[in-house]
Amino acid sequence: MICPECHADYLNHIKKCGDCNVSLVDACVLDLPIPEMTWSALPPFSGKIYADMAGEILDNNDIAYYLKMNWASSAYSIEAANLTGDIVRIFVPKASFEKASNLVASISGEAQ
Ligand SMILES: [Zn+2]
Repeated sequence: MICPECHADYLNHIKKCGDCNVSLVDACVLDLPIPEMTWSALPPFSGKIYADMAGEILDNNDIAYYLKMNWASSAYSIEAANLTGDIVRIFVPKASFEKASNLVASISGEAQ
């Protein structure tokens, strides 16, 4: 068993981390993007098409990520479907942030 906070290793019959007072998780779970993981946001992408391109690159490099759309632009009741005005944030695990931001740097640059 592993503590999701401090990643300390515990015997299987232990249920809580003595330091952090949080429930331990199975070691294999840590391979998945768990909520306890620290996520960092890459520079915002203007338009989902760029975010999708970045996601593909991250996929190819085995970096976990998730997208978060900013729907604030729809609040202005703009009738034209200006989809490129949407801001999309990509979140990656903090441990992969530097690699990820280098990989997608060219894409976020093109979006300007
Ligand atoms: Zn702990």
